[in-house]
Amino acid sequence: MAADASSAAPLQDPALRHDWSKAEVEALFALPFNDLLFQAQSLHRQHHKPNSVQLSTLLSIKTGACPEDCAYCPQSVRFETGLKKEPLLDVEVVLEAAREAKDNGATRFCMGAAWRSPKDRDLDRVEAMVRGVKAMGLETCVTLGMLKPAQAERLADAGLDYYNHNLDTSPEFYGKIISTRTYEDRLDTLANVRAAGVKVCCGGIVGMGEQESDRAGLLQQLANLSPHPESVPINDLVQVEGTPLKGAEQLHPLEFVRMIAVARVLMPKSYVRLSAGRQAMSEETQALCFLAGANSIFYGEKLLTTANPQNEKDRALLARLGISTEGSVSAPPAAARESQQGESCSTRCC
Ligand code: SF4
Repeated sequence: MAADASSAAPLQDPALRHDWSKAEVEALFALPFNDLLFQAQSLHRQHHKPNSVQLSTLLSIKTGACPEDCAYCPQSVRFETGLKKEPLLDVEVVLEAAREAKDNGATRFCMGAAWRSPKDRDLDRVEAMVRGVKAMGLETCVTLGMLKPAQAERLADAGLDYYNHNLDTSPEFYGKIISTRTYEDRLDTLANVRAAGVKVCCGGIVGMGEQESDRAGLLQQLANLSPHPESVPINDLVQVEGTPLKGAEQLHPLEFVRMIAVARVLMPKSYVRLSAGRQAMSEETQALCFLAGANSIFYGEKLLTTANPQNEKDRALLARLGISTEGSVSAPPAAARESQQGESCSTRCC
């Protein structure tokens, strides 16, 4: 039976629930905004430092020419987006970018490759990247597309901390976004990652023309994974010329905040990451997202292929909000050099 989500009183701690019904999730979305934020912030404070965010930096290690047809993605070979293709980077280039990310305050380094799934021979180089980044004391995350069990085990043996593989949207809306892999394929990869003992980074994208019920459906799927993904990136679509979703109806910023808040309520112990789309977001919207329970951001001047707020701007915003970063006692240190990050898929979901 659906819980009564209409009260402004703090929720009972629903940590580790994995049996959310769609009606329950929709009831959270339907709450008055202040009630929802109060619940989200109350839960956030039970499980996380209230004024701290984790910084992740994302690098595209292989860009473009992807055979998949994700309608939001400039890296698909099927869309004319003018994106410059790049083969798999050399290990040293990646390690230099990781050093720079660490100097700039990141604690996790995420490496994304535009593949349907990696070839076994490509994994040799990716494993060397993971080992090298980990040796610097950074957490490691890769997103390489669909993974077979043996591939997940190879990455685990290399010391990989997180594997990113997003569900993107609800099962009902999914077919309007991607036809070249199924929802089940994605769940299989997540299961393979879990079975190998690697932590899961899994979220989705909003602002793709979906309904609120689809946003609820996505979060229901994520919250009913057991265990919850340790990291839940929520992306606001960055529309790219040439992709089928260019011109999609944009999501109102307060609806984006609701999405963050419901994610926090459903998965109270997870890191909820404010991911793609921050460049176009006002500081006020970002502040509301932190209030709603976002406690991780992508930090760096580019995501895979689209712009991200400049480091300096981020530092100023976090300082204004009194938010420190994990692994430091204050806002992140000044940027040392311009990032070498390649261009990439803004809303990554491989
Ligand atoms: S999101 Fe990933 S799988 Fe989909 S087209 Fe882009 S690079 Fe390929």
